[in-house]
Amino acid sequence: MIYLDHNATTPVDPAVADKMAWFLREHFGNPSSLYPIGRRVKELMNEARERVAGALGVDRGEIFFTGSGTEADNFAVFGTFDAAPERNEFVTSAIEHPAVIEAAKTLERRGAKVTYVPVDEYGTVSLDHLRSALTPKTGLVSVMHANNEIGTIEPVAEIVRIAHERGIPVHSDAVQSFGKIDVDARKLGVDFLTVSAHKIYGPKGIGALYIRRGATICPFVHGGRQERGLRAGTENTAGIVGFGEAVRVLEEKGRKERARIEKLAEALKRGIEQKIPGAKFNGPPENRVKSTINFAFPGLEAEAILLALATKEIYVSTGSACSEESEEVSHVLQAIGLRPEIARSSIRMSLGRSNAEEDIAVVLRELPAIIAKLRSISAFHPEG
Ligand code: PLP
Repeated sequence: MIYLDHNATTPVDPAVADKMAWFLREHFGNPSSLYPIGRRVKELMNEARERVAGALGVDRGEIFFTGSGTEADNFAVFGTFDAAPERNEFVTSAIEHPAVIEAAKTLERRGAKVTYVPVDEYGTVSLDHLRSALTPKTGLVSVMHANNEIGTIEPVAEIVRIAHERGIPVHSDAVQSFGKIDVDARKLGVDFLTVSAHKIYGPKGIGALYIRRGATICPFVHGGRQERGLRAGTENTAGIVGFGEAVRVLEEKGRKERARIEKLAEALKRGIEQKIPGAKFNGPPENRVKSTINFAFPGLEAEAILLALATKEIYVSTGSACSEESEEVSHVLQAIGLRPEIARSSIRMSLGRSNAEEDIAVVLRELPAIIAKLRSISAFHPEG
C-alpha cells in the first residue's frame, strides 16, 4: 500500500504503540488517587505534558489535554465566549477546519456575530479584512496555523499583533502544522493553540489546548477537577502517555524526516506537473506545508480518481477526511476561488513517514495512466 493521506491521520509509531501497551499493562491507577499507583500515573501524565509543552515552547502548566483536536478547538471557541459573553463577536477565517467553522455557526445560532475573513487565491487570510472585522466587542480571533487541504501557512504572528493591539485574544489551530513546521506558541504570541496526537504518529482521541498563563477561559467539560478544573473527566491516560511518546519521537527524528518527506513531496509535485498536462496545482508556491499537495484535474471527478488509485492500493483524499462522506464541495477550494467543478476535480496527497522514494515512482507511473484513461471516457473533458 502507498499511503498518501497523512493529513487525515498517521500510522502510530511503533515506539508509541510499545509505550502505550506497556502503560496499559502496568498502570491502571486513577491519576486523581493519592496512593502510589495513582501518583505514578499522574507522574507519567506530567512527563507527557512536559514533552508537549516543550515542543510548543511553553510551560507544562499551560497544556490541557482534551479528547481530540476538535474538542480543543471547541474549548477555545466556547470557553472564551462563555468567559466574556458581552463580547459576542467572533472573527475567524473562511478556510478553518469544521472543528472551528461549526463551532462558529453554533455561536451564530446563539446570537453571536461571526465574521469569516476571506482568503486570497493561495489561501492566505486577508489582513485588511481581518483588521476591519475587529471591534471592541470581538471576543476572539481564531485563524489556523496551516491549512489541512492546501497547506497554506497563515501569518499568525502578524494576526496576533493586530488583535492584541486591540486587546483581543487569539486562538490558532495548529493541528496540521505541529510536526511539519516549527510551532512555537510563545513566538507566535497566541493565547490558545490546538494540537492533536494522531497527526504526529500518536494515538487517536487525544488532543491538547495550550492556554497562555493569564488568558481568560471558562471550563469546557463540567465535573471533577481534572485538567485543573477546566476539562473534567477521568483522563485518557494511555492516550496522554502515547501523545508524549509521539512528541519524543518527533524530536528525535522529526527534523531529518521532515526534510526527507518534503523532498519526496516536491518530486511528486514536479512529476505530476511534468507528466500530466492540464493538472492544476492548488495552493501557494511559498509559505506552504510542503508535504501537502493538492491538484485539480479539470473535467474529471476527484472521486473517480481516488477510487481508481485505491484499486492500485494508493490512498489519497478528496479533501479533509471530515467532509469526505458528504457531497459538499470543499469550502477551502471554493474560498480560494475555484469553480465548483474544478474543486470537485481536486485530490489531496499528503506525504509522511510511511513514504519512500519508490512510492513516488509508482504514483508517477499509475496516476498519469489513470488520468489519461478517465479523460478518454469523460464526457466533460475536451479530449473525451
Ligand atoms: N483541525 C485541523 C486543521 C485538522 O486537520 C483536524 C483533523 O483533520 C482537526 C482540527 C481535528 O482534529 P481531531 O481529528 O483530533 O479531532
